[in-house]
Amino acid sequence: MDSADLAAIDAVNPQQAIHLGQRAWWVGHKLDDDPFQCHVYLIENGDQSVLVDPGSSLTINETLRKIESIIPFDHIRYFICHHQDPDITAAMPRLDTMITRSDAVLLSHWRTIALLKHYNLNIRLQCVEQLGWKLDIGGRELEFIFTPYLHFPGSICTFDHGSNILFSSDIFGGFTEHWQLLATDESYFDAIKMFHEHYMPSREILHHGLTKIERYPARLIAPQHGSIIPQHLIAYIINQLKTLNCGTYLLTQSNSDIQRLSHLNEILHQFTRAMINYKAFSEIAAECLTLVRRMLPVSNLDFYACEEQHGSVHFSSNAMFTASDSGPPSWLVGLLGEEYSNWLNRFRRQVVYFCDIPTGARQSNCSLAVPLVDQESKTVRAIAVFTLHETTPPDNEELEILRRLSRPLHIAVEREMIYRSLEQERQKFYQRSIRDHLTGLYTRLYMRDTVERLLHIHDRDSSATVGIIALDIDHFKLINDTYGHLEGDKVLCRIADIIGAEIRKSDIPVRYGGEEFVVFIVAEPLQKVKTIAERIRKAVAALKFNGVMANVHCTISGGVVIRKQHEPLDKALQRADALLYSAKSHGRNLICAEDNRQ
Ligand code: GH3
Ligand code: MG
Ligand code: MG
Repeated sequence: MDSADLAAIDAVNPQQAIHLGQRAWWVGHKLDDDPFQCHVYLIENGDQSVLVDPGSSLTINETLRKIESIIPFDHIRYFICHHQDPDITAAMPRLDTMITRSDAVLLSHWRTIALLKHYNLNIRLQCVEQLGWKLDIGGRELEFIFTPYLHFPGSICTFDHGSNILFSSDIFGGFTEHWQLLATDESYFDAIKMFHEHYMPSREILHHGLTKIERYPARLIAPQHGSIIPQHLIAYIINQLKTLNCGTYLLTQSNSDIQRLSHLNEILHQFTRAMINYKAFSEIAAECLTLVRRMLPVSNLDFYACEEQHGSVHFSSNAMFTASDSGPPSWLVGLLGEEYSNWLNRFRRQVVYFCDIPTGARQSNCSLAVPLVDQESKTVRAIAVFTLHETTPPDNEELEILRRLSRPLHIAVEREMIYRSLEQERQKFYQRSIRDHLTGLYTRLYMRDTVERLLHIHDRDSSATVGIIALDIDHFKLINDTYGHLEGDKVLCRIADIIGAEIRKSDIPVRYGGEEFVVFIVAEPLQKVKTIAERIRKAVAALKFNGVMANVHCTISGGVVIRKQHEPLDKALQRADALLYSAKSHGRNLICAEDNRQ
């Protein structure tokens, strides 16, 4: 439609039907002093014509007159109601008495239909959903678009592919002080803005409808209130609407209940976002503390959670929410891990305010405890305790926020507990892979990893020496052959125990082979390492056994070296091994150390 045509729309006398192009007509009625100005549209299509948003008792006479100036009323087969308000539908009972054709049908969303049926009309009512949101009126297709909440949850719009007009009902509607059928410039947005601020409950919902509408190649947007929007203003208006603060956002400025609701929603929303954005429990818990501090004087936040192995785990804001195993405070003892009904029996409410101020003490000792309840088992899986530094009891709204936070907090704590148990499992498997299952000493696998790191340190720092003791049981085969493998195993374990007892935690004892051990001694001179080896040798030689092994006298031999800087591990081990075999050849039950004068 070119600008001359647009001007024609604007110039036409509203006492007549106004042609919008492609046999689409405005057939509304201009009311005096009515900021709503309800528009009715006719899609002229022979005996398959369509009346869009028929109007009210105030306007129907004029609308009928305008229709008759274009087509006989009987040519209208379809009546579309974009929602159920009286300014759209109140004309229907009157029209119903005039409809003679049996194939006439009133189309709307099911929510609207559910209300329209109360007019008790003869005309058939049909939901657009049942039509697949489309209607072919004989070579001309109409499509219905769901645009909820302006200002009814079942609101729809209609796009006419024949004229490329979007009959938008309220979603582009506006309050206009003066009658103006065609919006001429961007200032029309002010009229829409006022309308949407009042009627649209949320920007997100508005955004949803607009995104769908954008996909249609609209040449005109014909709303039910306000002015018709020409193509050159459509993108501008849509973009403005997308960023409009509307509905409850604005109402909150004057209505304290909604303000509270919005405050509550904001906290919950932010907390949910924290749960999605932050992975670590410590971060989520810290965010929770920050949010709750906005409304309550909270000094600390503590979580006590059930754990199978340790009974309970404690996460405290005082320790950056890292786990420790102290239990809940005395007034909560006996509730963790128990049925939620016990909690309710004891406190009679979900969120508990507990205040215990010793007489004369100035500092408060008040807490709020929130049970984190597993919905399936109905047990208290964890308890969140907010310690307050003031004694003012929380009001109902604050209690409600804490109550509502309990679900997401439960999920956060439960998730952390799952991570913990997975980590513990992982640790268990790791320990299994690094510990020899018979003696409990480290495996060669672990030795490779860990000792290499020690060697790197030694390479950079000559004082970080690594002493190596290689040990081998003397005539062990004989013990096995005489007393059996099981008794042999016991000997291995006793010797491993001695090694563990004679060294420090930072040293690394390894079961190197069947009855061979290697011990790495960190940052000690050769003499000291040799002394340790001697102590082990002597302790083994002094071992006493019971039963069939009572007469056994078991000994070990060993070789001791200090690893040279930059010497490969295998090389140093070979040197220790060579000394071990030297000890064997010198009669066993002997430790041979390298000569440090070399
Ligand atoms: P030497 O004094 O020269 O070291 O003599 P030895 O008999 O100790 O040496 P040898 O290498 O001939 O025998 C080692 C024995 O250690 C052979 C093997 O049966 C035994 N052995 C290796 N691993 C295990 C184990 O896990 N349990 C038991 N019971 N015996 C083991
Ligand atoms: Mg051996
Ligand atoms: Mg041996």
